[in-house]
Amino acid sequence: MIRIIDEEAKIEYQKDAANYIGSAEKVFILESTDEISPLVKELYSNNTPFTISAARTGLTGGGVPISGVLISTERLDKIIDIDLKNKTALLEPGVRLQTFHDELKQHNLMYPSNPTETWSTIGGNVANNASGAKTFKYGATRNFVNYLEIVLPDGDEIHIRRGECFANGSEAEIKTINGNTIKFLIPSIRIPKSTKNAAGYFLRPNMDLIDLFIGSEGTLGIIKKVGLDLLFQSEEVLSAIVFFDDYNNLLNFAEYLRNDNPRQLKPRLIEYFDHNSLKLLSEHHSDLPTEALGAIWVEFETNSIMLENDTLSLYELTLEHTDLVDMTWVAMNDRERDKITKFRHDLPLAVNELLTKYGQQKIYTDTAVPANAFRLYYNEMYSHLNSMGLEYVVFGHLGDCHLHANLFVKSEDDRINAEEFYNYMMKLAIELDGTISAEHGIGKIKKPYMKYMFTEVEIRGMQEVKKAFDPKNLLALDTLFFNR
Ligand SMILES: Cc1cc2nc3c(=O)[nH]c(=O)nc-3n(C[C@H](O)[C@H](O)[C@H](O)COP(=O)(O)OP(=O)(O)OC[C@H]3O[C@@H](n4cnc5c(N)ncnc54)[C@H](O)[C@@H]3O)c2cc1C
Repeated sequence: MIRIIDEEAKIEYQKDAANYIGSAEKVFILESTDEISPLVKELYSNNTPFTISAARTGLTGGGVPISGVLISTERLDKIIDIDLKNKTALLEPGVRLQTFHDELKQHNLMYPSNPTETWSTIGGNVANNASGAKTFKYGATRNFVNYLEIVLPDGDEIHIRRGECFANGSEAEIKTINGNTIKFLIPSIRIPKSTKNAAGYFLRPNMDLIDLFIGSEGTLGIIKKVGLDLLFQSEEVLSAIVFFDDYNNLLNFAEYLRNDNPRQLKPRLIEYFDHNSLKLLSEHHSDLPTEALGAIWVEFETNSIMLENDTLSLYELTLEHTDLVDMTWVAMNDRERDKITKFRHDLPLAVNELLTKYGQQKIYTDTAVPANAFRLYYNEMYSHLNSMGLEYVVFGHLGDCHLHANLFVKSEDDRINAEEFYNYMMKLAIELDGTISAEHGIGKIKKPYMKYMFTEVEIRGMQEVKKAFDPKNLLALDTLFFNR
């Protein structure tokens, strides 16, 4: 284990990708999973608060401590096993997503959960129930987690396999490897109707209790090992960026693809770029059509027999929705597809670069709403943004009605407007049966908005669940709940 106490060396561990800044007295970088339990046992018996971090690509402050010790899992990066026959894998938590994707590709396998930030770790992804573009077809990380080893704050462990440990109605109990039983009640909480949600604990009567830990943002225990289900790679993938000269046609195009359609086009992802996104990206990509108001990235899994037919269907659909059909970027091989993927990845990076330049903590929406409320939500968002005179960039997961509106604050007036906009969008998402966080979680930054989505009783119910695992409340102080 590496110990860091030097102030200078600690700096990078005291902030995340949102520029949320915290403070740690000591940083411990684990070098073996066997070190986790003895370390936290000692911290727990000394009443020392501790927080887990991994690649620190989080955008809500969840991996940034406010005090005490930071435990980093970034070096626990072994792919323990890939079982080709059963299409499963067992990993340490610090495996980077890109490393895992690359390894699987060699075996013609894939893990469809693909957050844009591939530097993030599997443990961080499980802790946040991360999702990505392909979530439109495959759902979030949760859908692929079949096994977890969790070290509890007192050093005891839970090993839990999907399908083996369920709640009985609202009564839950989990056995630890030391033979203890953790009992708790599953409170009834609001469940949004959006297709994605990462706000608060996953709690349902009769639930599979493995799901409680997925998306619990490092507040219940430390993920020591992760078991995942895998899929075969698709034989062919058709990937395209379609440019539009009219927003209404852009939304109609997305809606057509989101629903069952006569052309049988079933994309695995539908991603959105607004005009300002394209403008920002044009600084890095000189071949962007300047007349485009917005763009959509779509990708289809197909095979050698259907590829031509699917390409033609996509062409016809594009022709019906935009005059910029000739500008469409179509990728038919790995190299061209990687170029499009990079194009999408460059966008949040360019936004984060600007924020760092302005020394600004990221202010952005992570809200999602059900499909039937999306147009209203979309129109309200833009009418609000345009009335404020703030600089902004909107992009995101249009297939799941989940957009990130990023705001650039350069003055006190901007800050007031940005906060007002942010509050308004959070409340609107809830009114429309959506969520305040679809994928990045609550962490520390979004905690004040939990009360928009959940009643006091519901929040207290979640705190009681945490108490069952962490009675001294030493793990992940100030994440999800107000602890100070
Ligand atoms: C450019 C960019 C693009 C992004 N795109 C996406 C996206 O498309 N989809 C998406 O979902 N997110 C996205 N994110 C956010 C971020 O990448 C994810 O939240 C990711 O899951 C964080 O992983 P990490 O390894 O960096 O974890 P960290 O940031 O280090 O930690 C995040 C949280 O996980 C907890 N945690 C980490 N490891 C463990 C562990 N072993 N046990 C228990 N708790 C743990 C931490 O305590 C913290 O609460 C993006 C971020 C950036 C900067």
